[in-house]
Amino acid sequence: MAKRQVFKVDMHVHSMYSGESPSEPRDIIEAAKEKGLDAIVITEHERLSLSLPFEELKKTAGNLGIFRGVELSTDAGHMLVYGVRDEDWKDWGANRMNSAQELIERAARLGGLAVPAHPYKLEKKSPFDSEPSVVVDERIKDLAGLRALEVCNGKHFKYPWVCEVLGKYAASIKLPGIGGSDAHMPHEVGQAYTSFRVPVYSDRDIVREILRGNVWPQTDSLKLTSARISAFMICEISM
Ligand SMILES: [Zn+2]
Ligand SMILES: [Zn+2]
Repeated sequence: MAKRQVFKVDMHVHSMYSGESPSEPRDIIEAAKEKGLDAIVITEHERLSLSLPFEELKKTAGNLGIFRGVELSTDAGHMLVYGVRDEDWKDWGANRMNSAQELIERAARLGGLAVPAHPYKLEKKSPFDSEPSVVVDERIKDLAGLRALEVCNGKHFKYPWVCEVLGKYAASIKLPGIGGSDAHMPHEVGQAYTSFRVPVYSDRDIVREILRGNVWPQTDSLKLTSARISAFMICEISM
């Protein structure tokens, strides 16, 4: 088999188990395969246990890797948690406003990683501005122990320069950036994803490779040239 150049993982996918998405697991898996992804991470809101049904589907997903994380509400915005075990995590932090700092520390202690999701705000400096400016969410700037940022999120499509702004910020603080679609519908799966330099076969592989900086964020839109440029910039600084 030819050597793979990159391993594509959509790091941020919601399904019907999140309660706010109609996506059937089988449709998500089908969409991910059609987009040419190598793996997806199911990140339901609030509870890691919501995605437990995907454990069973791993057996029927063929070559597509299926991993599970969780997206939690914190005082610094939404955060994605990867690489923690159900038995350790115990649905910690569900349905409450968590301390982002505490979440980062807890995830790290359990061998995982907490990453700010879509950490930006849109601001119109004047009512005459046709497009809003993108600013990095101030709330993440004082957090200690951050090891990565979600730089490309599939929901940015209307404002593709979000990816560029966050990419430049991540590069400025020497953090790797990741990408995920934040898909709530099957056709959105893969609209943003993370390229890994090496294959990842478990959620702990994902954490390890992000910590090593062996990742860069991508989108599937050819229009997002600038986002790609900043993504490569991140790639360079993280080596
Ligand atoms: Zn979110
Ligand atoms: Zn989300």
